[in-house]
Amino acid sequence: MGISLLNIWRRGLHTSSARLQMIQGSTPTKRICIVGAGPAGFYAAQLILKQLDDCVVDVVEKLPVPFGLVRFGVAPDHPEVKNVINTFTKTADHPRLRYFGNISLGMDVSLQELRNRYHAVLLTYGADKDRQLELENEQQGNVISARKFVAWYNGLPGAENLAPDLSGRDVTIVGQGNVAVDVARMLLSPLDALKTTDTTEYALEALSRSQVERVHLVGRRGPLQAAFTIKELREMLKLPNVETRWRTDDFSGIDLQLDKLQRPRKRLTELMLKSLKEQGRSSGSKQFLPIFLRAPKAINPGEMEFSVTELQQESAVATSSTERLPSHLILRSIGYKSSCVDSGINFDNRRGRVHNIDGRVLKNDDSGKVDPGLYVAGWLGTGPTGVIVTTMNGAFAVAKSICDDITTKIVDTTSMKPGYDTVGKRVVSWDGWRRINEFECEVGKSKGKPREKIVSIENMLQVAGV
Ligand code: FAD
Ligand code: NAP
Repeated sequence: MGISLLNIWRRGLHTSSARLQMIQGSTPTKRICIVGAGPAGFYAAQLILKQLDDCVVDVVEKLPVPFGLVRFGVAPDHPEVKNVINTFTKTADHPRLRYFGNISLGMDVSLQELRNRYHAVLLTYGADKDRQLELENEQQGNVISARKFVAWYNGLPGAENLAPDLSGRDVTIVGQGNVAVDVARMLLSPLDALKTTDTTEYALEALSRSQVERVHLVGRRGPLQAAFTIKELREMLKLPNVETRWRTDDFSGIDLQLDKLQRPRKRLTELMLKSLKEQGRSSGSKQFLPIFLRAPKAINPGEMEFSVTELQQESAVATSSTERLPSHLILRSIGYKSSCVDSGINFDNRRGRVHNIDGRVLKNDDSGKVDPGLYVAGWLGTGPTGVIVTTMNGAFAVAKSICDDITTKIVDTTSMKPGYDTVGKRVVSWDGWRRINEFECEVGKSKGKPREKIVSIENMLQVAGV
């Protein structure tokens, strides 16, 4: 850090305050606040800024740094997916957008305060918890969520001390979504392939000492219900020095159903069948072991027990048979979960999302009526599924509703609203983020990586100059 850190900081300081003054001076009539600087927040901002030419959009983000799961979720060896950051940066450069990093809804500001200070508030703060298996021993040290493991290798502040135990041969991943496959790939990839990515230095160091040789990817349903997609499976099948082994029994009768399947599912199933057929032709010192029709039953020392299941109308039903898998480390990858960060939010605890109709949030009472001026988009509104494009389409639709409600005066914009009051807060502006970005890229360059992420919030704030 030291001198180069300070230089980066000094270079950008003046531009951020100039921009704030410009927006404050222009007294626009409509003020919209977006909570969360992930894909949903940025795509919504993009559409709102395009459609409403007399508005200011303020984006309030918990972390000093933007981009949500694009920075802290998307796998480091998928840099092309992160190109959406360029679009988000263009949106952030818009003269009527302000970025308030390091401000957390529920901690630094309440929903009521935001509603008093803005004509409309859009919640897009995502899903930062994970679903549990509800099994005894789930809190043991060798059982961790895929969410935490992903956060660890991606440098989410607070995840750096996870210390996953990679000293055993067998890892069991519960769940067969794309997150599970990302995690399996990170565990089985040759280290050289990861060294040139933005995987955090401490994770690379831990992975270099990894003794993991076999990764079981366990699903409670059958091959036709696997939640991973073809591109991600193809990548696994191509990993050098990794042999994929399917269980022939899992595929009994599957080929007879091919003709009934929709095209993407058909292609995925054909790929699994092809790989099964070619099984044993190549070898590797590591193994990727997808296993179907096994539902989590118990966590025992050094192993995980599963019920053998049968499918009944696509649902997994446990039989009396069980199977035990050696499992030094267990990664639970059964989905993320949103949380309620402010008591003013009408949160559906059962479904883990904000109560809404097409992005319009319902009043926090039992009336079932829409609360004008309050919206939700992204995983917080839909639940934790969908790729970035899905999130984009949803966010565009909600943003359009916001513009429509303002234009048709369902949302009253006649009174002046002051916007967020930053006095006494350590707020990271967009220029502050630029300084962090420059710093990370500079440090990364010297190591042959696209960036070396700063993990400590305090260091981020220092580099940002706040
Ligand atoms: P998020 O991206 O989670 O953004 C929410 C933002 O809100 C974050 O910046 C967060 O810090 C902020 N926030 C949280 N709490 C508060 C608060 N209290 N106050 C203020 N701000 C707050 N999709 C693809 O298309 N390709 C991929 O390769 C891919 N890989 C993925 C890998 C993983 C591990 C995961 C979990 C998902 C992946 N996805 C991928 C899906 C994609 O990441 C999501 O569709 C998308 O990020 C959801 O966007 P969002 O804005 O709803 O939430
Ligand atoms: P997901 O796709 O919903 O997969 C969750 C998995 O967990 C499913 O296999 C599900 O099985 C299983 N599961 C759920 N509850 C379970 C339980 N109690 N016991 C056993 N298994 C259980 O979720 P995800 O993997 O977290 O991914 C979230 C979203 O991000 C997805 O849309 C995904 O495509 C996207 N993403 C994309 C990429 C990419 O494009 N490369 C990478 C990562 C994530 P059932 O089907 O039986 O419920």
